[in-house]
Amino acid sequence: MKRMIPVTPSKKEFQEEPCPSTYIRSKKVDTNQHIFLTAEDSFKRLISVVDWHARCCKEKLKPTKMLKKGHVCKTSLKCNDKETPHVFSWSSSPYLPTKDYLVNSRVNHGITCSGILPAVYKRFAPGSGIGVISDENRTSFFKVHSQYIQEEYKYSTDIALLQEIASYEELDSKIDIMSDARHG
Ligand SMILES: [Zn+2]
Repeated sequence: MKRMIPVTPSKKEFQEEPCPSTYIRSKKVDTNQHIFLTAEDSFKRLISVVDWHARCCKEKLKPTKMLKKGHVCKTSLKCNDKETPHVFSWSSSPYLPTKDYLVNSRVNHGITCSGILPAVYKRFAPGSGIGVISDENRTSFFKVHSQYIQEEYKYSTDIALLQEIASYEELDSKIDIMSDARHG
């Protein structure tokens, strides 16, 4: 029976450059760099695309201008090939079937559920540099989901009210016993 012996790739082929460190210490001048929110699938897809490119092309990929769409970053990756450069569009968020960004919709959901005031959000988001969802986008999200928000609101307040009533009934019975002891 033949034994399979793993073939070790030659060091020369894979170690032409030192591997970049994944620990980055920001310099003072770099603290204003772009910050954005991303989603797991978009991050994984970026790795796949860079991986595919590295197998097919020896040039390096670089991001072009970064645009903010709410909390999402939209950019293109372009390689240095002078004649036929590879270009990939990349967004830091997947799209929903409605064509909205998943990331912005999740933030809109958080804004709605937390009860944060629009004025507070509009100071917090640009202040942190993570982008900001426009008034129009937030309003349209709220309009689309307001019916479901109302239903959830009614359901949760009804439940809370029933629990409150139930707790009073329990309390009443305890008070009855206590008052019997005091006045008995
Ligand atoms: Zn290329």
